[in-house]
Amino acid sequence: MKKQYIIPIFVPHLGCPNDCTFCNQTKISGQQKQVTENDVRDIIDYYLSNFKEKDTYKEVAFFGGSFTGIDVETQNKLLGAAFDYIKEKKIDGIRISTRPDYIDKPTLKRLKKYKVKTIELGCQSTNDYVLKKAKRGHTFDDIKKASKLIRRYRFTLGHQMMIGMQDSSEKDDLQTAKDLAKLKPKIVRIYPVLVIKGTELEKEMKDGEYEPLDLEKAIERCKEITYYFNSKKIKVIRIGLQTTDTICSPEKEGSEVVAGPYHEAFRQLVESSIYYDIIIDKIKKININIKEVEIRVNPQDINNVVGYKRKNIEKLKDDYDVDVKIEQDIKCQPGKIEVKPLKKYKEFKDDEEEI
Ligand code: SF4
Repeated sequence: MKKQYIIPIFVPHLGCPNDCTFCNQTKISGQQKQVTENDVRDIIDYYLSNFKEKDTYKEVAFFGGSFTGIDVETQNKLLGAAFDYIKEKKIDGIRISTRPDYIDKPTLKRLKKYKVKTIELGCQSTNDYVLKKAKRGHTFDDIKKASKLIRRYRFTLGHQMMIGMQDSSEKDDLQTAKDLAKLKPKIVRIYPVLVIKGTELEKEMKDGEYEPLDLEKAIERCKEITYYFNSKKIKVIRIGLQTTDTICSPEKEGSEVVAGPYHEAFRQLVESSIYYDIIIDKIKKININIKEVEIRVNPQDINNVVGYKRKNIEKLKDDYDVDVKIEQDIKCQPGKIEVKPLKKYKEFKDDEEEI
């Protein structure tokens, strides 16, 4: 499979008459001005000249707002600018993100003309009460209708969901994942809610009506949901908002994040926590008291096995008194690990006695 390059173009708040309580779109996208077709060309040229590998799949991604909510003329100008590069065979496709209630047949037919391949729906939750509380202005029914239509028109369907929305319990978040999976997206993004400066959610938090998830809880919820999507063969392409100059630690100067489970390596924390569970599971299956294990892993998974700042290795030592030797093995299937006992606890004791 070819390596994939994404050329992200942020279209902040354009066309969005909604005011979701958690959103201040101009701040999330880190810019205030509206994007023009010249900007689109400049951004694409910039990225193309910086890509190292040439034989790759390149996609322009209009993120940030509700793309199909922008006035049609502007949409067509932005899409047209990107489409020129498709005609010149410099890029391979376009993806957009939008709201479920901004999808209909004429819109999809128009997007087809510009070779849009992927449509990501900002669903956030499938619980109508939670959606209403966040003032999303659409329902689960809108998500179902839009998803079916997108698949019928043979676009790649993507879903974005949030965890830790106001009044959304752990069960509700998992139920959202289950409901979305039934609509057969190919890809999903999972975003823990962060409280952004100037949003209604910030006010609600200050008034004591909203309490953001702490980091540990957010990791746990994302872990369960990632497990679930993995089990349904739905690719989780992002966990956590991308760090920018303004979406960063609340302690950092210029950060627009006031509170919430922000971490610069959020995805790694979730994935390495999944690997930790897998390691423990495998050790328990060996069913002997183990002192030292060898873990064989594909080089691309090594960071997740070791954990952020070696957390998994230290936790194995602290919680189970197990030492770990890691071997990188290109023959190991990515995503799979092999755990082999090196020293049983009894042998270790015998060694100690000999000394
Ligand atoms: S619909 Fe999207 S862009 Fe508009 S306010 Fe809600 S989250 Fe922000």
